[in-house]
Parts: sequence; C-alpha cells; structure tokens
Amino acid sequence: MPGLHSILQAKIEHVMEPFDVAIVGGGPAGSSCAAFCTRAGLRTLVLEREKFPREKVCGDCLNPSCWAVLNRLDLANRTRALPHAKLERVEFIAIGGRRVIVDLPSGEECELAVKRSLFDDLLLKRAGELGAQIHEETTVTALTNNSGWKIETAGGENFVAQVLVGADGRNSTVARLCNLLPRPQRERIALQSHIPLPDNFRNRVVLQLLSHGYVGLSPVNNHELNVCLVAKPGNISTLKTWATKRFAVSSGHAWRTITPLTRAAIPPARENLFLIGDAARVIEPFTGEGIFYAMRSGELAANAIARIIRGEDRQLAMRKFGRAYAEMYRGRLWINHLARAAVLSPRIASFLVRFAPLSSAIMRLLTKEIAVRDD
Ligand SMILES: Cc1cc2nc3c(=O)[nH]c(=O)nc-3n(C[C@H](O)[C@H](O)[C@H](O)COP(=O)(O)OP(=O)(O)OC[C@H]3O[C@@H](n4cnc5c(N)ncnc54)[C@H](O)[C@@H]3O)c2cc1C
Repeated sequence: MPGLHSILQAKIEHVMEPFDVAIVGGGPAGSSCAAFCTRAGLRTLVLEREKFPREKVCGDCLNPSCWAVLNRLDLANRTRALPHAKLERVEFIAIGGRRVIVDLPSGEECELAVKRSLFDDLLLKRAGELGAQIHEETTVTALTNNSGWKIETAGGENFVAQVLVGADGRNSTVARLCNLLPRPQRERIALQSHIPLPDNFRNRVVLQLLSHGYVGLSPVNNHELNVCLVAKPGNISTLKTWATKRFAVSSGHAWRTITPLTRAAIPPARENLFLIGDAARVIEPFTGEGIFYAMRSGELAANAIARIIRGEDRQLAMRKFGRAYAEMYRGRLWINHLARAAVLSPRIASFLVRFAPLSSAIMRLLTKEIAVRDD
C-alpha cells in the first residue's frame, strides 16, 4: 500500500510535469493521435477510463482505408497477426429475403474483422511503445482552461497540458465539460455481442433489414460471430428476441449497448482543444467506416498539434487541419445520410433492394465508395 506521503508526492509530480498534449480516451482516435504525437517528439499523456483489453459496441470491421494509417504506424503486419476473419463479400438482405451480394476488395489490404478488444489494445500499446504515458482506469471528470489545461480525474489526480484532445467517443466528457456536446438524438439503440460462429457462415458481412430494425453480422475469427442489432427504442427488445431465437443463444445472454447512434457534429478544433473520432462526428454504423475516421482524424490532429507546440503559426496549423479534416469527409457524408435513411425506414429500403432494377449496381457502387478509397 503506498503511504499518504508517496500519494501526495505523485499528485504533485503530475502537476509539476506539464505535458504538451493530453488525450482523453484510448480508442482508435486517441491511441492513433498519441502514437503520432509521441513520434513527433511531443510529451504525450493518454487518460483512458477502462482497463484494456476491453470490448466495445462495434461491428469489428476494419475498412480497407485503415491500412494506410496502420502502415504509417508500422502496425499493418501486427494487425494481420491478430486473430481475424478476412471478409470477402457483403450480403444485403431486404425484408422478405431478397439478397444483393457484392464482392469486397481482395489481397493484403482487404476488409478484415478483428475484435475491438484486440485491435484497440494493439493501438494503445503502440502509443505506449513510442513513449506516450498511458493511464488506464482513469476517468476524466473536470477541466480548467487557463492558458493551458488542468485535467482532474475521478481518482483525484491532476494533470497539466498545453493542448487537450477529446477522443472519448460519442458521449464525449470533454465536449460536455466544454459545453460543446449537442443534445443526443435517442432515436435508435445498438446492442452487440459475440456468439459461436454458425457452421458454414463463411467470410461474409451480412447487413439484414428487418421490419423492426437491422442486424449486422460478421465472423471475427474461426469460432466467433459479431452480432450487432440496431432499432428504435420501442423495437429493440423484439429484435433481441428475434436474434436470441435465430442464433439459439440463451435468453440471459449478455449484450453490450450504446446510444446515441446519431447526433450533430462538433467543429473539431478551437484554440488549444481538438475533438477527434466519434467525439467530433458520429458515423452511421451501417457504413463500417468509424474506425477509419477515428484513426485518420487522430493523425491529422497530431500533425497540427506538433506544429503548434513547435511554435509554428497556430492559425495556419489550425487552418491546415480544418482543410485536411474536411477533405477526409468530402463527398462521403451522403453515404452516411443514405445509410441512416435506409435503417430508419427498413421497409422503403427493402422495397428498393427488392424491386429497383438497378439495386445490384447501386449496392456495388455504394460498397465500392465505402471500401475502396484513394487516400
Ligand atoms: C453498432 C455499431 C457498429 C459499428 N461497426 C463498425 C464497424 O464495423 N467498423 C467501423 O469502422 N466502425 C464501426 N462503428 C463505429 C466505431 O465503433 C466508432 O466510430 C469508433 O469506435 C470510434 O473510435 P473513437 O476512438 O473515436 O471512440 P471509442 O472507440 O468510443 O473510444 C473512446 C474511448 O474513450 C474512453 N473514455 C470515454 N469517456 C472517458 C473519460 N471521461 N475519461 C477517460 N476515458 C474516457 C472510452 O473508455 C473509450 O475507450 C460501429 C458503431 C456502432 C455503434
């Protein structure tokens, strides 16, 4: 047991040792940002509420655009070495059972499904290897900005940093404490779990529309299937009952849950504060792109923060970040809106899949847009 003196000493040291950047949240956004910040020579702190490895409500699918960022983090081979499933095609199933099947990119940089417990742990460890100071089981509870940030945690520790990054997900505490968090839209809820992989499931992602919501399925290794259920609050228990029967899981089976699935975006940068990943913009789960946006926005924020800490023109660094951030989403948000409309109105979306003569071509085009990017 540490004595009172050593606890007080540790607290004083945190206050005495200012960090260049403090990152709240060690998910894909926070860990990537931390890894790029430390590589740029910044004194980097990560404060993460959970103890890793931990699971997370997610479809576990890594969009092929993640490879570019993983290569820059020297993590591509280590990601491939994790237990995973290579996803070869996506199958859209409408209400009534009509299927549209679209091939996914093949080769080394294909779409991979990896459990978030493994993937997020790898990213966080990488940030630590590169020199970031990481504190797990540390929940940020209060912030003071007075030409630099004082960060307080539930355990009573204090930290000081020049720049603060909110990478703490869709219900961002940083955004809330800074009075930036928009009112959430609780129009839908997600449930997620891993269950035994049914025989002959094969390497496919299934996105199935049902009258009371939608289901996303993908294998994550050779024995587990990721199941995501998304529905309006009034329909979620019906959908859960459907899944319990469909996959023969026990009625007491544990499901993780998350909400909101939609909320307004927050501008990602101001003065000495950055918001990245889901903390800034929540992406429609149906598209399976959130992890990419989290990692890439972390990288872009790290570039800007490194310029600011080196004493380069702050306004210029912020403008460059703003442009690169907007570029990342350019021409893509319509897919997000379309996916949201489809899952909010599964009957209309199913009608289009079943009867539109061009439905296969449209689905192929959409999948290509999502899974094959140039950057
Ligand atoms: C149902 C569903 C399915 C999805 N499927 C996919 C998919 O297949 N592929 C894909 O790319 N994306 C998918 N997404 C989106 C993806 O999960 C997110 O976009 C991604 O996790 C965002 O990463 P992040 O680092 O911004 O936030 P998160 O992954 O949420 O990480 C935030 C971290 O901050 C920590 N934290 C929170 N508050 C505090 C605090 N106060 N103090 C300290 N730490 C804190 C949390 O513990 C957490 O570890 C899905 C989302 C949903 C809801």
